[in-house]
Amino acid sequence: MNKRTFLNLLSTAIASPVVAPLSAWADKQKLTNWAGNLTYSTDHLHEATSVDQIRSVLRSENKVKVLGTRHCFNSIADSRQNLLSLKPMHQVVAVNREARAVTLEAGITYGQLGPYLDSQGFALHNLASLPHISVAGACSTATHGSGEKNGNLATAVSALEFVTASGELVKLSRKSDGEVFRGAVVGLGALGVITRITLDIQPTFSVRQYVYENLPLAQIKEHFDDIQSSGYSVSLFTDWQKQRINELWIKSRVTDGQSFAAPPEFFGAKLARRNLHPIAELSAENCTEQMGVPGPWYERLPHFRMGFTPSAGKELQSEYFVPRRNAIDAILAVERLRDQVTPHLLISEIRTIAADDLWMSTCYRQPGVTIHFTWKPDWPAVRRLLPVIEKELSPFQPRPHWGKLFTLSPSELRSRYEKLPDFIQLAKQYDPQGKFRNDFLNTNLFAD
Ligand SMILES: Cc1cc2nc3c(=O)[nH]c(=O)nc-3n(C[C@H](O)[C@H](O)[C@H](O)COP(=O)(O)OP(=O)(O)OC[C@H]3O[C@@H](n4cnc5c(N)ncnc54)[C@H](O)[C@@H]3O)c2cc1C
Repeated sequence: MNKRTFLNLLSTAIASPVVAPLSAWADKQKLTNWAGNLTYSTDHLHEATSVDQIRSVLRSENKVKVLGTRHCFNSIADSRQNLLSLKPMHQVVAVNREARAVTLEAGITYGQLGPYLDSQGFALHNLASLPHISVAGACSTATHGSGEKNGNLATAVSALEFVTASGELVKLSRKSDGEVFRGAVVGLGALGVITRITLDIQPTFSVRQYVYENLPLAQIKEHFDDIQSSGYSVSLFTDWQKQRINELWIKSRVTDGQSFAAPPEFFGAKLARRNLHPIAELSAENCTEQMGVPGPWYERLPHFRMGFTPSAGKELQSEYFVPRRNAIDAILAVERLRDQVTPHLLISEIRTIAADDLWMSTCYRQPGVTIHFTWKPDWPAVRRLLPVIEKELSPFQPRPHWGKLFTLSPSELRSRYEKLPDFIQLAKQYDPQGKFRNDFLNTNLFAD
């Protein structure tokens, strides 16, 4: 089944409280994730348009996994039994101007939300590289953008509503529920079916985006902090060859006295005179506007434009978070592997993220630097390479992105989350029988 068929099938929402599974695919093709590297283990896909319909699915099925926009590369969203999509539940419920908060139905994407919020005079603090992903799926996996003062996207969540395995509708908020709330926000799909999310918003703002080419690696070693603090959101793209960062992307808020001055040369890198794709060979048509043209936050903070294929399309992705204090050593560790890495790579991206207090966040209590890999779609080769990278990064105790490919053992993974025992207890409280647990969660988190 191609992506369009999938979307068409999903759009056949049923308004009755009873949900018919959309399992009979017209062309008998299997349901896959966005990248096509994962075929979900069932074609039993339910779709809900209301809390009552969600309850109906949960009553009739022992195992259910909610699907967002299917952009994870690993099996965190997979199920052998039942998938549940909330795609039709994509309305903005309320904008609270005084509290600076927006409440959303869980199926909404950042691409749907951005223009609406902007039209109301508001913005989110940050976005990922693409707006195509669902807010619920992104926050559930601690998806992030860049910017050393910006927490990941889940840090904007101030309240959450979800239906538990027993059908109870639980409402948690940052203000009233303290630790339980902080445990639930990056929930990895393990606590229940998120139906509503409330996010912090701020007055809308404009951003100018500049791209520099050929930043010498030596400058990164000497001036990493200066470079990372040069913009509101900064990304370094490299193929690890020639001792250089191929492209430096600086996203600067248009605020009096704080904008980036964009000199023609910056730490030895040259200001680009045309829009660029992070993979320089690809057309920049898919990318957000650069060369300092001011634009609204939702059209500059992502690298890729809504309505166009983000990234390369045919690819795999991996990403490792290390403590910010180890940034240079970790970058140099990967650079040493360049001749093994580059043949399988489309591009790497290095970003910074502020610390937070969300239990299962990859930046829990530590400001992070992430080293991301967009791979050519050759899983056998990537699978052989990931342990080599993970070993090289092991002195820095890397935490892998929850939605991307990694080969760290479950025990290594578990050792990196001090709040994991509490998270497991929380999940068991809302889901004692493991209705929302799948192979990924059982193997990586819940195994004894
Ligand atoms: C091209 C591309 C670029 C990317 N760029 C970035 C980036 O810049 N930064 C970054 O951090 N990541 C990035 N990612 C990864 C991506 O953001 C994450 O994989 C994210 O989780 C995708 O959201 P989704 O809605 O597609 O999730 P899915 O893959 O559909 O689901 C992810 C998890 O969320 C759970 N979930 C979804 N909805 C609900 C709900 N309503 N209730 C309960 N659980 C739910 C699922 O069960 C699953 O466990 C990128 C991925 C791609 C394909």
